[in-house]
Amino acid sequence: MFYQNSFEIRKNGKRIRNLYNNQKINFPNFVKLKLKLMNLLKLFFFVLLTSSTLNAQSVLNTKKEQAKAPATIQFGKEAFKSSTSTTIRWLGMAGFFINSRNTQFMIDPLLGGYDLPLLMDFPIKPKEVPQLDAIFATHSDNDHYSVSTCQDLSSVTKEFHSTIFVDSLMRNDGIKSVGHYIGESFQVGDVFVRLTLADHAWQNNFPKPGQRYYSPGDACGFWFDTPDGSIWAPGDSKFMQEQVHMPTPDLILFDYSEDPDFHSGLDGAIKIANAYPNTPLILGHWGFVDAPDFNPFNGDPDRLKSKVINPERIIILAPGQPYILKKLKK
Ligand SMILES: [Zn+2]
Repeated sequence: MFYQNSFEIRKNGKRIRNLYNNQKINFPNFVKLKLKLMNLLKLFFFVLLTSSTLNAQSVLNTKKEQAKAPATIQFGKEAFKSSTSTTIRWLGMAGFFINSRNTQFMIDPLLGGYDLPLLMDFPIKPKEVPQLDAIFATHSDNDHYSVSTCQDLSSVTKEFHSTIFVDSLMRNDGIKSVGHYIGESFQVGDVFVRLTLADHAWQNNFPKPGQRYYSPGDACGFWFDTPDGSIWAPGDSKFMQEQVHMPTPDLILFDYSEDPDFHSGLDGAIKIANAYPNTPLILGHWGFVDAPDFNPFNGDPDRLKSKVINPERIIILAPGQPYILKKLKK
């Protein structure tokens, strides 16, 4: 028996199988056995290949890549001492801690008790915060106004500031707060503060029976004039033309989200960044919540860096890592 050109099987010169004309042949028993074994082998490798491919696909489907912040750097009381400069730390999520010479304050602090899984640790616990001159909340969502964090910090915080609406929530939650209209300004220590416009009324798109109407002014951003320069924290907002006509800030604390419906989206983020082409941007709202399929939280700074003027000014801080504010040369 021999195999000829791989498509004919012959025995003693007699053709027993031709793969092209598919004629029926009565195979000898040993050939039948050999063919059965070969078919079993083929089946085995087919199953092996298919299952490993399916496994690889299911891993890809459940483990979509998400950009993750650098490892958290813990800090403590030493970060709250008065100094000769203005230092900014990202608290993870959307929160920032600013120590401006003799004035210490937080924006949108969330330091525990969140209802989604997280990729990172918070850089400080509320009980480790020795004192704050103020806490600012941009809007009512629990990644910005954390009731438990604000309550935990209320005994060491002199003042809470937000919009008129969020102030009403804070008072109901037992927090002594002050509500402000958009454009209103006031002073905390050596820092002048002004509320800036934001558009984040996503609740109106998901009405529930009896739900209030969310209006412009329920959410805000904050502008800070410190002795060492200006800082703008626009808050969560759909892209608005107003956002590209601000005075040039020395630093932007940017809620970076690629969701275009209720946040800036990538295109809006590029427009805001490029409107102030020399201003550094510290990114928050990304890389902290474990939400690869939820675009409000899964932004990738590399996508922004690839599209902005002077990409080196996109600052990727680890939660807790200090950054010293510098005035821009104007
Ligand atoms: Zn948010």
